[in-house]
Amino acid sequence: EPHKFGCETDPNRVSIGKVIGCGEFGEVFRGTLTLKVIDVAIKQLHALCQPHEQIDFLHEAKALEQFQHPNIVKLEAVVTASRPFMIVTELMANGCLGMFLRHQRAAKRFFKPVVLIRMLYGVSEGMEYLSKLGYVHRDLAARNVLINKDLVCKVADFGLTRQINDHNTCTNTKGGKISLRWAAPEAVAYQTYSEASDVWSFGVFAWEVVTYGEKPYWSLTNQQVLQAINAYRLPAPEDCPSVLHQLMLECWHRDRNARPQFSRVVGRLDTMLNQRGMLDTL
Ligand code: ATP
Repeated sequence: EPHKFGCETDPNRVSIGKVIGCGEFGEVFRGTLTLKVIDVAIKQLHALCQPHEQIDFLHEAKALEQFQHPNIVKLEAVVTASRPFMIVTELMANGCLGMFLRHQRAAKRFFKPVVLIRMLYGVSEGMEYLSKLGYVHRDLAARNVLINKDLVCKVADFGLTRQINDHNTCTNTKGGKISLRWAAPEAVAYQTYSEASDVWSFGVFAWEVVTYGEKPYWSLTNQQVLQAINAYRLPAPEDCPSVLHQLMLECWHRDRNARPQFSRVVGRLDTMLNQRGMLDTL
């Protein structure tokens, strides 16, 4: 029986503008919702989609419907009663954080460390909220975090998100895509996902933010990354406060039980923001 969405909308109320992005599911447009008159992003499921893509698309909509948090992209409406299906979210005017930071670097516009840490703090709060609700994101990375005109960062792209079971883990049975460079060792080896594997990804995400969107492990091949991870950790980026690199290293503890939980990550970032003296670089 199809899921009934509280925010199901008549497609005539969705006014579609120019393309702002393209994802796995299809194109993302800028637009407005009439009656409410707010700027939104409209993600359309492309017409030639595979059945599993439709499942993931509806899954993302259902997950988003559960969430209400300032650091999680807000669902405004869905269209699932007619084709094309649409997921309508608040417009994040600066787009995906990875691309945004790469543009800043190219233009030699650099932020103070505290501004970057504020971005990380926001995302850690969003992730803490998700994990408290019993969800694992499974694909946290700078490409899946969006940034609005006020530089507020929000977690997005919930296509791979799952609810966890009694053992606080979930496994990926259908052998779907995995972002190796962001994945915890136990996620790579046993497809075991948990808050702790999201924390690992958060560490890689933090490294991406401080490097203004550098590719983790640079030009290493996937095979080399897999080997490197046994002995090697990403070094502190230039101008990275040492307390922040220390936190990344803790997120990358091989033993998942030794990694901090998101509530602790939030606390640590909060301390960095409140004791600016700590933000000396290495
Ligand atoms: P993939 O799984 O391949 O990462 P996807 O199909 O799940 O992609 P998204 O990542 O959600 O699609 O969106 C693709 C792009 O569209 C984003 O990288 C971003 O540039 C843009 N985009 C998506 N949602 C918004 C939004 N709410 N505001 C502004 N831009 C958005």
